[in-house]
Order: sequence, then C-alpha cells, then structure tokens
Amino acid sequence: MIQPPFTDEHEQLRESVRGFIDRELAPHAQAWEDEEWFPNEVFGKLAGQGLLGLKYPEEYGGQGGGYLHEAVLCEELARIGSGGTAAGIGAHVNIATPPVWRFGTEEQKQRYLAPAIAGEKIGALGITEPGAGSDVASISTRAERVDGGWVVNGEKTYITNGVRADFIVTAVVTGGDGRAGGHHGISFLIVDRGEGVESSALHKLGWQASDTASIAYQDVFVPEQNLLGEMNEGFKLIMANFQWERLAMSLGAVGAMRMAVQRTIEFARERTAFGRPLSGHQAIRHKLADLSARAYAAQCVTYDALRRFVAGEDPLREVTMAKLLTQRACYELMDECLQIHGGAGYMREYWTERAVRDARLGPIGGGSDEIMREILGRLI
Ligand SMILES: Cc1cc2nc3c(=O)[nH]c(=O)nc-3n(C[C@H](O)[C@H](O)[C@H](O)COP(=O)(O)OP(=O)(O)OC[C@H]3O[C@@H](n4cnc5c(N)ncnc54)[C@H](O)[C@@H]3O)c2cc1C
Repeated sequence: MIQPPFTDEHEQLRESVRGFIDRELAPHAQAWEDEEWFPNEVFGKLAGQGLLGLKYPEEYGGQGGGYLHEAVLCEELARIGSGGTAAGIGAHVNIATPPVWRFGTEEQKQRYLAPAIAGEKIGALGITEPGAGSDVASISTRAERVDGGWVVNGEKTYITNGVRADFIVTAVVTGGDGRAGGHHGISFLIVDRGEGVESSALHKLGWQASDTASIAYQDVFVPEQNLLGEMNEGFKLIMANFQWERLAMSLGAVGAMRMAVQRTIEFARERTAFGRPLSGHQAIRHKLADLSARAYAAQCVTYDALRRFVAGEDPLREVTMAKLLTQRACYELMDECLQIHGGAGYMREYWTERAVRDARLGPIGGGSDEIMREILGRLI
C-alpha cells in the first residue's frame, strides 16, 4: 500500500530498486562482508541504473528527481543485507556529494558531482578527527594559505569510503590563530587523493564491507579552486546537510526494521518447538506484535519528518526525534529478531547475526543519541 508522502511513481521506483538489489547486490553480501570490502564496480552498476543521482539535476547526469526518490533508495538499501555496502553507497550519495551540489561552483560540479553521479569518482566526507567527533567545532586539521591554494596537515578518522574515495570533502581550520576552528574558523576543501593523503583501514564490529579509514594529510597542496563554499563558513555547510543525513539514517532503519520483522514472522511460522510453530506460542506472538508496532512507529515519525522536510519546512525537531527514535529501536529490534531465531540467529549463515552488529552504529554515527537529546533539550 502506498504511504504518503510516496506516490505511484515512487512505488514504481521502489520495485525497480528492489529488483536490482536482489539481483545484483544481495547475492554477494556475505562474500563482501567476509572480504571487508565491496568492489568499486558497485558504484558503476548503481550509476547505470541512475541510482547515484536520483535527486540531482539532469545537467550533471542526475535523474532530476527529488529527496523522495532518494528516500526510496535509502529504505531499500537494507535489502542488500550488508550494512557496510549500504553505508558506502549512502556516504557517497547522502553526505559526500550533497555539499558539492549545494555549495559547489559550476566548475566543481562538473569536476566532482558529474563523475560521482556517473560512478566514475567515489566521494567521502571527512569531518571527524581523533580529537573531535561530536564536538565538530574542535577540529584541528589545518589549512595554511600559500600561493595558489592551501597546504593541509592533520588527521581524520572513521571516514566511510576513506580508503577508496577519489575525493574527500574535508573540514579544515582556516580561521583564527591556529587553534581549533570554532564555529567561524572552519572551511571545506575538496581534497583529491594523491601525494600526502594516506589512508589506513579500520576494523570494526559491523558495517564490515565498508572501508572505514583514518586519513592522514601531510603537507597536501590543495588548489584554491577546491575551496567549497565560503571561507570560514564551513559550519553552515555542515549544518545544511545534517537534516538530510539524519533522515537518510532514519529511513535506512525503517527499511531494515520492516524487512527484519517480515522475515522473523516467516521464520516463526516455519520453525516448530513443543509440537507447534513458534508463532503458535503466545509469548512469541506477543513479541512479533511488539516488533511490528515498533517498526510501524519508527516509520510514522520518520515519514512525518520526511513530509515536513520535502514541504520545505525546517523540521529540526522532527528530524532529530526521528533519528533518536529509530536508531536504538532498530538495534533492539534486530536483537529481538535474533532471539526469536534461537541458536541459528547467532550463526553467520543467518542474516540476524549481521543485522544486530550493523544496527549498533546507528545510535553513534551522524550525531549520537546523546547529541540528539542535547539538540531536543535546547529546542524544548
Ligand atoms: C563506522 C563509522 C563510520 C563513520 N563515518 C563517518 C564519515 O564518513 N565521516 C565523518 O566525518 N565521520 C564519520 N564517523 C564519525 C561519527 O560521526 C562519530 O563517531 C560520531 O559523531 C561520534 O563522535 P566520537 O566517535 O568522536 O565520539 P565522542 O564525541 O568522543 O563521544 C563519545 C561519547 O560521549 C557522548 N557525548 C559527546 N558529547 C556529549 C555531550 N555534550 N553530552 C552527553 N554526551 C556526549 C557521545 O554521544 C558518545 O556516546 C563514523 C563513525 C563510525 C563509527
């Protein structure tokens, strides 16, 4: 059934995205997780389907759609069954390329956005540092002004696509006296992979197919035409995309929860214990009832925030609530699904084992639950 704000057109897109993912990506999920890497060609395949540019204008090779088309993709990426692959794709379309689209010069859009939509260049967003995560204003990667550009020194960490990215949209300190940037001393530079840019892969609990990396910048020359947005106004750029990033994460959780509940119901119908299907036991039936109610509640808050967002409101409160209410809920729901699968649920062969690990990042990434509460606390 079509749920507003989606229309027939979005549902058709959903069907085609599902077919593509089921055919081309999902069958490889386990192998990619085991290898801790999904192939770069995935970006080319997605581009071939127009899925890297759903919300971007046709003049850059995009589909000329909007955030609702992108929302469909965010939900359906869960079908890959590999949080890491979904994260790598999500980082490219939801956090690395949007600042180039919104703040880039025409020349930057031709040089980075168009090839990113075509799957020819892979992007990453580099904000977090070893000494500054939630407290973004404390970053210390510094860009010194030199003839024709900047020289960048510093370190970023936990960067999704950090090993494979061809360009890293990087937050740097440009203002002040060399200390941390503060709200008015941060700028963004688009840094090409090249001399002085050194990535080291990090190993993690979940999202294993994605290449999360620390990136060291040592005397990296960045030409002045790679300044993204206004000098010392980088905080605006960070704020501008936070709402979409958080909505995208909420939508990802909604898609994952919906699928998990459906699969768990099917499992509970098939598996028998004490002479009847698991779903024949009231305790399990009640759990399934709770799980569907929780998934539906997550969908309702997320769709409400999404509706407001696409209507042009500034739904900071609703988006923050959606992020807060969906991420831990998703993790807890996956854990309950695993429980219903019993010992099988703990095994590699079952999707539940990976789903629990993958869902654990949600309450940390893209603004942690504590930071969401801080924002809400101030708003109320
Ligand atoms: C797998 C993965 C992928 C990531 N991808 C990217 C990426 O592509 N690009 C990027 O820039 N970053 C990325 N990140 C970084 C992510 O956004 C940060 O990890 C997150 O913002 C939290 O920052 P931190 O890890 O430094 O924790 P900290 O900020 O040090 O926080 C530690 C703990 O303290 C809590 N805390 C912090 N401040 C407060 C406060 N004021 N009140 C109460 N509690 C507080 C936090 O909620 C957290 O629980 C990624 C992280 C991971 C794990």
